[in-house]
Amino acid sequence: MTVEQKVGILSDGAKYDVSCSSSGSARAAKSGSLGSAAVGGICHSFTSDGRCVSLLKILMTNNCAYDCLYCVNRRSNDIPRASLAPREIAELTYGMYRRNYIEGLFLSSAIEHSPDRTMELLCETVRILREELGFGGYIHLKGIPHADPAIISRAAALADRMSVNIELPTENGLKLLAPAKTKDSILKPLSQLAEIYAEGQLDRYNPNRALPAGTTTQLIIGATPDSDATIIRLSEGLYRRFGLKRVYYSAYMPLGTSPLLPAVRAPLLREHRLYQADWLLRFYGFSADEILPENTNLNTELDPKSDWAVRNPHLFPIEVNTAPYEMLLRTPGIGPRGAWRIREARAHARLSYEDLKRMRVVLKRARHFITVGGKFYGHTPELTLDTLRALDAPPPAQLSMFDTPTFLPLLTAAPEEIAASVITGEM
Ligand code: SF4
Repeated sequence: MTVEQKVGILSDGAKYDVSCSSSGSARAAKSGSLGSAAVGGICHSFTSDGRCVSLLKILMTNNCAYDCLYCVNRRSNDIPRASLAPREIAELTYGMYRRNYIEGLFLSSAIEHSPDRTMELLCETVRILREELGFGGYIHLKGIPHADPAIISRAAALADRMSVNIELPTENGLKLLAPAKTKDSILKPLSQLAEIYAEGQLDRYNPNRALPAGTTTQLIIGATPDSDATIIRLSEGLYRRFGLKRVYYSAYMPLGTSPLLPAVRAPLLREHRLYQADWLLRFYGFSADEILPENTNLNTELDPKSDWAVRNPHLFPIEVNTAPYEMLLRTPGIGPRGAWRIREARAHARLSYEDLKRMRVVLKRARHFITVGGKFYGHTPELTLDTLRALDAPPPAQLSMFDTPTFLPLLTAAPEEIAASVITGEM
């Protein structure tokens, strides 16, 4: 098999891992070496289903000793198999980087022979790139559950970012669908990487510190019956305990044949709502308990912030000239930038509705939840969720990141505002 054929198989096998966006790493080019990394400087491009393809995203091997039922690379699946040697991957990456095809490497692997051997080969690939070829570009490396912590440490010293995928949100799910993995085998490397990252942050101006771009994980949504509330609570715990940069959510795709698995793909809209809820955790000061009551799922009609607001009508409308900053942040249509602008501007003058427009507050949503100088600009102050739904109830629809939305619910913004929200996460 030629290297080209192997690359075809192995890059196809890697496409189901969505934890590949990259940023947060800054390293200047050095004389005698090639490439550099910059904060936010590695460009992203996305496939039509939203997956990032800016890096050379590839598996070292798809020859897996494990048999996770949801995975295309599972041992029992009859697919073409291939493996690349560390030097082959290193030279391929280096060559593509020099031609400006890629800006870095996202290297993952199935578990060939054993976790230690797999982690050792991944580590060797990065060593060749960094130490022999002087590659200074971005490297995102997968951490392998059950692997020896010493090998993981060596890998972390050379990579920009590492991720260990949790995949299934509960231990029961793991037992059922990926019995070779345990919760401990996944959380241990995550905990180790969190410590390595934290140590590096003590020396944050050192460009050669370990894991400058931190750690991430991925959860598969919809392979098990776990509710969105369970998933959001898990994410909250992961951010708190391991200081993760991101939790990625991947809508389940029916790649297995087991009767234990759902026959249909999980809706992308669910994945999108989980990303929105994730933003509320990270940037809006919400707790998981506030976003969703236990064992419930996110509202498909409203984004999670609007949903929270209409579940708490006694808190609205707020007066933008006097409301606490925390309440501004919790108001639909006002994102972190808008809340900050309002707080800064109202320290100098009383704000008008026109001022809010100039601040790019999404008034189409916000006006139902605010007063400006005591005046309410929404439909009626008594609007409840049911009334809002009844006024303009759209059919639940699959959300695409790229097509023009076919409906505009009352509380959502114009298409360009929706597009901006998808990119910036502001709600
Ligand atoms: S360990 Fe499981 S999830 Fe990972 S490649 Fe093998 S079968 Fe797939």
